[in-house]
Amino acid sequence: MVSIPNWSRVYAGKVHDVYAPIHALAHSGIEVLMLVATDRVSVLDRVLPIAVPGKGAVVNAISKWWFEQLADVANNHYFSDDVPPPLKERAVVVRRLRMYPIECTVIGYMTRPVYASYEASGEFQGAPLPAGLRVGDRLPEPIFCPAIKAEVDSDDEPISFEHMGQILGSQVAERLREISIELYRAANEIVAPKGLTIADAKLEFGSSSDYGDDEFVFADQAFTPDSATYWISEEAEKGNPRTFGKDYVREAIGDEVLAWVSGTSSQLNVPEQVLEEAGSRYRHVESVIFGR
Ligand code: ATP
Ligand code: MG
Repeated sequence: MVSIPNWSRVYAGKVHDVYAPIHALAHSGIEVLMLVATDRVSVLDRVLPIAVPGKGAVVNAISKWWFEQLADVANNHYFSDDVPPPLKERAVVVRRLRMYPIECTVIGYMTRPVYASYEASGEFQGAPLPAGLRVGDRLPEPIFCPAIKAEVDSDDEPISFEHMGQILGSQVAERLREISIELYRAANEIVAPKGLTIADAKLEFGSSSDYGDDEFVFADQAFTPDSATYWISEEAEKGNPRTFGKDYVREAIGDEVLAWVSGTSSQLNVPEQVLEEAGSRYRHVESVIFGR
């Protein structure tokens, strides 16, 4: 952990470190936090004992860009990138919100995990799907899959939309579903001309009294390779898309992680080659998005 003048660390998430300013009024009197994207990797809700060098900077740049792109679609927490120099590449200042305790996942395409359930039962988490879909195909409508946010080192718990309504109130649940799907569709429209498809994405929201009646603020990270499944559209059309970001890590070493988590194996050995490939895939998404 780095010690940063004028900021104190208030929370270490799986992949982000969260800092609060020591002088609460230093940011025009607005309550802010600094979100630092580290090089840590979490797979199956566990932080792995490995790092992918440079990944935090990639994730931070992509997230910041998305908040700018999608500002017309929904309010978001981005405040400034005026962060201490050592963190320049990997941190942003955001409005401090009360987070809704639900992760909002939108799935618009037949991903491999959805396919596994579909092949077995013709549906995914209760959503019936038409016959004949392949990995890479677009679903007739995006599916909304809420989950209860897990503590570090435990699993996120998928819940039904009705259950989400019981937790947040049905009107709040409806709004979050609507905004999530709207953001997801808008993001896909933006990347389509770049030859990218966002197959699924996990979104988080918070609320803040600063926003008056509009209490739904898009927060956390926006459509990064850690929170969304990116595909090259051409590969998806052929039915065999590569994955990027943490999806790639999960595919490359998922079985080893499971054995390590269940205690069957005491160590997680990750081949150097997997780490290098992971880094290069994070950078690839960044270079396609930014056209360089
Ligand atoms: P993962 O993303 O792998 O599930 P995690 O949820 O534990 O991990 P991190 O992403 O590492 O968390 O840490 C970021 C934390 O900060 C999350 O708990 C997130 O909900 C919270 N957060 C994000 N934006 C804001 C905000 N604007 N105000 C308050 N908390 C926020
Ligand atoms: Mg998170």
